[in-house]
Amino acid sequence: MSWDFSTDPDFQEQLDWMSAFVRENIWPLETIWRDIGLDGLARAIAPMQEQVKERGLWAAHLPPELGGQGMGQVRLGLMHEILGTSPIAPLAFGNAAPDSGNSEILALAGTPEQKERWLHPLLAGDLRSAFSMTEPHTPGSDPTQLATRAVRDGDDWVIEGRKWFSSNASIADFLIVMAVTNPDARPAQRASMFVVPVDTPGVEILRDVPTMEHPWEHYGGYGGHAEIAYEGARVPAEALLGGEGEGFILAQHRLVPGRIHHCMRWLGVARRAFDMMCERATYRQAHGSLLADKQTVQNWIADSTAEMQAARLMTLHAAWVMDTQGASAARTDVALIKFYGAKVLHDVVDRALQLHGSLGYSTDLPLEGMYRFARAARIYDGPDEVHRQSVARKVMLGYSPPPNGIPTEHVPTRRAQARERFGELLEAVTAND
Ligand SMILES: Cc1cc2nc3c(=O)[nH]c(=O)nc-3n(C[C@H](O)[C@H](O)[C@H](O)COP(=O)(O)OP(=O)(O)OC[C@H]3O[C@@H](n4cnc5c(N)ncnc54)[C@H](O)[C@@H]3O)c2cc1C
Repeated sequence: MSWDFSTDPDFQEQLDWMSAFVRENIWPLETIWRDIGLDGLARAIAPMQEQVKERGLWAAHLPPELGGQGMGQVRLGLMHEILGTSPIAPLAFGNAAPDSGNSEILALAGTPEQKERWLHPLLAGDLRSAFSMTEPHTPGSDPTQLATRAVRDGDDWVIEGRKWFSSNASIADFLIVMAVTNPDARPAQRASMFVVPVDTPGVEILRDVPTMEHPWEHYGGYGGHAEIAYEGARVPAEALLGGEGEGFILAQHRLVPGRIHHCMRWLGVARRAFDMMCERATYRQAHGSLLADKQTVQNWIADSTAEMQAARLMTLHAAWVMDTQGASAARTDVALIKFYGAKVLHDVVDRALQLHGSLGYSTDLPLEGMYRFARAARIYDGPDEVHRQSVARKVMLGYSPPPNGIPTEHVPTRRAQARERFGELLEAVTAND
């Protein structure tokens, strides 16, 4: 019997340190970080990064030989729950997306030269990266339809296509680009990954796409989602990351643990929104009583508590499956939490916003920003519908049509079978009547 929900005391101490550190040092930066610019932000967090390194918590997603901690997904998950409370906390801990996922791919598939040139400076914070897969004219939810091509020309590859929503590309030094290298191969083996410096001739970062999060035109900020034209972008053979045709396998390696981290970060956001909701309920009076005394509000508090607890246990369970049985065994659990966790985040933030009325809708509180963030969670890293489909398909593998089309639980059929099986007993009982 080895069910165990405890956290070992040493690691709990680290988590407690992280909670206090993020709340005291990082939350205060949130209200000004866009004003101080990227350089200002880098200066503000540099001393914090040193403290994180001294605590042995830097780049915790990577194995020890690459300067990481080799923590495993359960511990990483608990850590991300804390870092998720602030959009800038992951920067102080060396595991901000998309650099964290890109460093994982480079660690996994990079040649020693690629690691030297891209991974080590990325980990040191000297370079920034983006992941460039989604295209405006093909469905990101079905990447086997990718249209961007990389064609071999002598010792080089020449990349041609259009991408968008490449997060952070407008401030990146290099891009990890997914392109089709063999359109005739089986769908999962058509694409490959390339490391492409942003200053490669033929790479043009056209704009940061205005979104719900940043509805105004802008260029170059942290967290922007770039549209990029690749027009005859020529890279050497050494730019190929992993083997030819291994793009999807590598993408899965990046996405499966990445989704666990997302889900735990979302719980950090949801918890913060929940705390605001509960605080508001303690002092706002309407229609003769405190909001906390109204049954609808009590339902919101109880439902949010239950849903966050469920999402947390499901996510940590998926992390545990991954730690104990590997990424492919955890795929269905991870698909499950991806859509369920996104819904919990959305619903908790929505209730907290509603409870604050016009204040919740205003930018005087972070709730409206959390709401916009929550909406995106249902789309990126696979939309809800795709994850639901994959869970349902897996579940349905355990079912088949009943013989003769009669439902297994059909009572008249079962009764007839029981009469046959227990005929003697029935006869004896009715004979006594
Ligand atoms: C904030 C944010 C950051 C992102 N960052 C990156 C990044 O850094 N790099 C990158 O490459 N991409 C990034 N993306 C893109 C993201 O991965 C894609 O948006 C996502 O994969 C969906 O692809 P799509 O937008 O082309 O939508 P589509 O594939 O066109 O899907 C649109 C809708 O169709 C429906 N649908 C699709 N398949 C099914 C199905 N099987 N059953 C039922 N309905 C279905 C769903 O409702 C889905 O939302 C980001 C997106 C967002 C919003």
